[in-house]
Amino acid sequence: MSDFEGLRALVTGGASGIGRATAELLAARGARVAVLDLDPSSVEEPLLGYRADVTDDTSVREAVAAAVAGLGGHDVLDVLVNNAGIGAQGTVEDNDDEQWHRVLDVNVVGMARVTRAALPHLRQSAHAAIVNTCSIAATAGLPQRALYSASKGAVLSLTLAMAADHVREGIRVNCVNPGTVDTPWVGRLLDAAADPAAERAALEARQPTGRLVSSAEVAGAIAYLASPLSGATTGMALAVDGGMQGLRLRPV
Ligand code: NAD
Repeated sequence: MSDFEGLRALVTGGASGIGRATAELLAARGARVAVLDLDPSSVEEPLLGYRADVTDDTSVREAVAAAVAGLGGHDVLDVLVNNAGIGAQGTVEDNDDEQWHRVLDVNVVGMARVTRAALPHLRQSAHAAIVNTCSIAATAGLPQRALYSASKGAVLSLTLAMAADHVREGIRVNCVNPGTVDTPWVGRLLDAAADPAAERAALEARQPTGRLVSSAEVAGAIAYLASPLSGATTGMALAVDGGMQGLRLRPV
């Protein structure tokens, strides 16, 4: 029997990159999976796609309710993957207030909004798990990522606080901390660089493994934390970063 047979999962930002790979993996392992995304037009069967903007509370509440109904589990949700997020580059001087509010709204408040809407359904599950997509930026002190790092630092703190708040309800909360992952997002960053090949080589060299992380590798870590196989793990951050954290950010 597959690990996720009979379980129902919701993945935000599931139309692209890490979220898409996660939704596909959970479905391949037997889960019924709904994707919540700004643009779910590319989402295909057996995944169910729902349009929502995580910065809009009404849109989130309606989409979560529709997704839970669509999953057909009598109001039960077993897995929530809070993955939707956006990036920002620069030092603290480079982003204005509007950019700060926007990125924190998507990456942090968006996570709280979706979780708030999903918790009543997660409480009905015998195997409830929440996995948040954080980043090594939460703790690494990366240059040129002030706003993004602050948002992911908040995601790490939120993960720990939620884990404490809901542990006695049987809801586990963990996060993954990816390094640089080969997703459409990173592709867009590279396309915008003056020398995309050199920029890609620099990103690869920063990782001790000498290569970017794949979306499938992050999906595997999320699936582990979402599955009953990790039933005794909560309040943890799992690095999926080609050794950056474990090897103290030293390329080899
Ligand atoms: P991506 O751009 O390929 O996919 C992100 C998805 O989120 C898209 O489908 C997008 O439509 C959706 N989304 C964005 N804003 C939204 C909103 N307001 N409401 C609903 N959906 C929205 O990005 P990715 O690289 O797969 O990143 C996914 C997550 O992984 C993000 O939280 C990101 O911070 C995190 N992450 C990425 C990397 C990396 O190197 N790619 C590294 C560490 C962490």
